[in-house]
Amino acid sequence: MSETSRERFQSTLCRARKIAVLTGAGVSAESGIPTFRGAGGLWRRYEATSLASPEAWRRDPGLVWEFYNHRRERALGCAPNPGHHALAQLEARWREAGRAFTLITQNIDGLHEKAGSRSPVRLHGSLWQVRCLSCGSVTENRDVPITPAFAGSGSPDPEAPARRFTAAELPRCGCGGVLRPHVVWFGEALQESDLAAAAAGVEGCDLLLVVGTSAVVYPAAGFVPMAKRHGALIAEVNVEPSAISGLCDVVFTGGSGAILPSLLDVTPA
Ligand SMILES: [Zn+2]
Repeated sequence: MSETSRERFQSTLCRARKIAVLTGAGVSAESGIPTFRGAGGLWRRYEATSLASPEAWRRDPGLVWEFYNHRRERALGCAPNPGHHALAQLEARWREAGRAFTLITQNIDGLHEKAGSRSPVRLHGSLWQVRCLSCGSVTENRDVPITPAFAGSGSPDPEAPARRFTAAELPRCGCGGVLRPHVVWFGEALQESDLAAAAAGVEGCDLLLVVGTSAVVYPAAGFVPMAKRHGALIAEVNVEPSAISGLCDVVFTGGSGAILPSLLDVTPA
């Protein structure tokens, strides 16, 4: 990274009254969270996109839960990396100084929270929340396996013996309704309240930092022009140049775990 980009970024950062950060899969990948994308990204013979969908759920909710049970098991064994910690520490310094800081994440694994981030806007929901299909209530749930029936299931191996889970084996709400993962699936709308919280964090910010995502998908794609409108500095940290690099004022190429700790080692001025 060039010294001038770094200086430009840090001089804006230390004076920023309002910071917005958008994070994506790249941040989690450095902690060992599988992205289920691209080569080798299959779970059994399925693309993640074909399991994280309302159609898949209608076809076979047990299979979808088996996939999410596996993801929860994997996430449980993963720890936040230095990038997560650097963001949480930046947030703490900014809040302590009475300044605004909003972390918006596309990740569902809970690693930002584990690192100490206080109230990230989770655009895609959480692996650790479930939603009742009957009464609609959303609750924290850290059970692994999700129900005893799922113990030992979920191997991503395509040769793993397929077993079909019955309706009686699915996780249930106290009201008797079936619970589903409280995550946003392909083809589903994001929660209005999350969209509003994200927009409120980005609107009028002095600095928008995009980390580990190309931010080309709605609604993230809208954040860059939204921040630019008010003159924010737009910064990107990604392992390789992305579709939004051209829109950014400063671009840092590399892993967020390697770059963020020193880049964000700034106190409010
Ligand atoms: Zn219920």
